[in-house]
Amino acid sequence: MTNNYKKFKKESEKVGFDLHHRKKIKFNMSKYEYAVDTGKAYYSNIELAKSSASLIKQVSIANLDKLLKEFERNFTKNGGLVFWASDEKEAKDHIINLIKKHNIKSVVKSKSMTTEEIELNYLLEKNKVEVLETDLGEYIVQIANEKPYHIVTPAMHKSKKEIADLFHEKFNTPKDSTPEYITNYVRNKLRNKFLNADAGITGGNFILAEQGAIALTENEGNGLMTTSFPKIHIAIVGIEKIIPGISDLDILWPILATHGTGQRISAYNSIFTGPKKNSETNGPEIMYVILLDNGRTKLLAQPDQKEALKCIRCGACLNACPVYRNIGGYTYNTTYSGPIGSVITQHLKELDEYKHLSFASSLCGKCTEVCPVKIDLQKLLLYNRRDIVEKKRTTKIERLMMFAYKKAMLNRKYLEIVPIDFKNKVLRSFGQKAWGKRREIFELKESFSEQWKKRIRFNSN
Ligand code: SF4
Repeated sequence: MTNNYKKFKKESEKVGFDLHHRKKIKFNMSKYEYAVDTGKAYYSNIELAKSSASLIKQVSIANLDKLLKEFERNFTKNGGLVFWASDEKEAKDHIINLIKKHNIKSVVKSKSMTTEEIELNYLLEKNKVEVLETDLGEYIVQIANEKPYHIVTPAMHKSKKEIADLFHEKFNTPKDSTPEYITNYVRNKLRNKFLNADAGITGGNFILAEQGAIALTENEGNGLMTTSFPKIHIAIVGIEKIIPGISDLDILWPILATHGTGQRISAYNSIFTGPKKNSETNGPEIMYVILLDNGRTKLLAQPDQKEALKCIRCGACLNACPVYRNIGGYTYNTTYSGPIGSVITQHLKELDEYKHLSFASSLCGKCTEVCPVKIDLQKLLLYNRRDIVEKKRTTKIERLMMFAYKKAMLNRKYLEIVPIDFKNKVLRSFGQKAWGKRREIFELKESFSEQWKKRIRFNSN
């Protein structure tokens, strides 16, 4: 059992029975569910919209190499610069070089999971660059010295009171500050930072090949400020975000908003085609895009699981997942949590360290049902499990038990040889552990054959 797995088991046990945590998540999720139901009602045919979005992403992934090159050509023509990063280290090297080249001392950031993936904040702080999250949720987790709890709502695990207490502790704001007070406080605090930052760093929701542009969607306007005021804009984007062009946003933007937050469309949707032109007054003088692979091509090489690259990171599968709702976002110990995190993490990172996540699912299928790009998530979890078994990454004892189980199930004789008391003993000692200490293990009274014989006798009387 790896340390990661041990930690996962310990944390899920702890968080799963934390009633205060459950109450907060339940409250926040109920608001989300209501908003999404309302948002979906605006579609005359939501299934058709989901199929169209799925097809766009499928075609994009199938043509990933061509589209990425097309993007590079067009973005360069627009005056921008593209860097390719095959892994976290290369991405970090590019950033360090840019920090040195432009003498960057302060950075404002808009919400981006790719930057979480490479632990950008830590890197910047280590290099004495002041970094400030400008999305309110991200700002809250930054000052709390935490990581995002959820890919769309980073501070979902905190109640209003906990946030007010945090601000009181950090900034001496009134103890009973309202969300409005805190929002205004952060807005004022950030304003100067936007004006004075040397660089703005963002992610990107979509990469537009035909226009050579990055599309960014957000609700607070902080993304727009991050890219408008600083002279340098650096976008760090996963390569799977590529789509053919601007017309595809017709469906992708609304479907992302509806499934992410229940909106018909997010409040701010921007397209960055490169640095500002001579005729333009706003925008950065220099724009870089770092295209991050970091295991994505490894996932692309998996014929059955590459479908996961269609993900638009709306977070709907996390919100729907009964496992996520109980054990919470931090237990996964990954950048991407919930069903999609369980599917992709073992491909993006070390298989042995994260393979347990593919088994942490009841396979109820709710995630697949809600996914706006129709990723068959529970099937992909099963493919992951299959690969783990085929690659012999399970423990010896598990393999031995499955071998014995298979033998017995394929031949009733073997099952009957074992006395019922011994079977109960095995169930109590090994089964109880897997079944969990809080659930009562069942007791076998008689074998299937004995039951069957009784039934035949009963029916023939
Ligand atoms: S897998 Fe689907 S539901 Fe989950 S985050 Fe990605 S797009 Fe959203």
